[in-house]
Amino acid sequence: MYVGRFAPSPSGPLHLGSLVVAVASFLDARAAGGRWLVRIEDIDTPRSVAGADKLILQQLSALGMTWDGDVWYQSERLAAYEHAFETLQAKGLVYPCGCTRREIADSVLAAHGRLPDGERPYPGTCRDGLAPGRKPKSWRFRVLPDTVRFHDRWCGDQAQCVAEQVGDFVIRRADGIWAYQLAVVVDDAEQGITDIVRGQDLLSSTARQRALAQALELPTPSVMHLPLVTDGQGLKLSKQNGAPAIDTNNPLKTLVSAWQYLGLGDLSASNLEQFWGEATARWAGHFYE
Ligand code: GLU
Repeated sequence: MYVGRFAPSPSGPLHLGSLVVAVASFLDARAAGGRWLVRIEDIDTPRSVAGADKLILQQLSALGMTWDGDVWYQSERLAAYEHAFETLQAKGLVYPCGCTRREIADSVLAAHGRLPDGERPYPGTCRDGLAPGRKPKSWRFRVLPDTVRFHDRWCGDQAQCVAEQVGDFVIRRADGIWAYQLAVVVDDAEQGITDIVRGQDLLSSTARQRALAQALELPTPSVMHLPLVTDGQGLKLSKQNGAPAIDTNNPLKTLVSAWQYLGLGDLSASNLEQFWGEATARWAGHFYE
């Protein structure tokens, strides 16, 4: 039985970029005859905006996107993350790290002569124990040297050696907050998620999440990572760069503009019900036949 989910962070109302993800995950679940869950990822409390969760749920309802079951909130799931952390700890797979960002950048620079673009793999400074006098700040997951391979339903076959490209990564941050990577793996497993549909900005997190799931002996959902909606300068639309909230006064127009980003051709719907009927059939024809 298919179980999908939409997992917005409540840092503001939905914009076109997050709506495209919501629409695609909803269509994928409905086309598969499955369930579609909504999970509010409010674990990063400094970035959560009060009331944004309610606003997002209202926006989804106004567009005719009804979710199954209760909405989960990550802020209510801290005991589950603690439990997973303890499981990893008992297996010797976590260790405290005393490094600051600055020190990590300096040691990567010393080892490579330059700072690579994008992600800087953690050089493993605290892997064999904290240097004397060092205080633990964050906690890292001890990554195995294997290459993680998976198939992405949009992007095709993927492979990432997490040890080389990311290094041991943080699962509990220096501010005490559980890292997104740990929370998402624990929640996806506990909610029985079989299929993840989300934006391509998270494609590079998938190998990390699979590595964690494997260490926790949890199943790994199938994944589909959608192209990101970008602004005129090629930047991902985001709340941080001021993407406007979607217009729910004109739901059909808003849905049609999100649909166009999925590249599955035009629809002739003239009301919400027709839109969902046609869009679900088109999605099913493309991905399930
Ligand atoms: N909460 C994440 C976001 O809003 C999505 C997480 C996920 O789908 O795994 O970008």
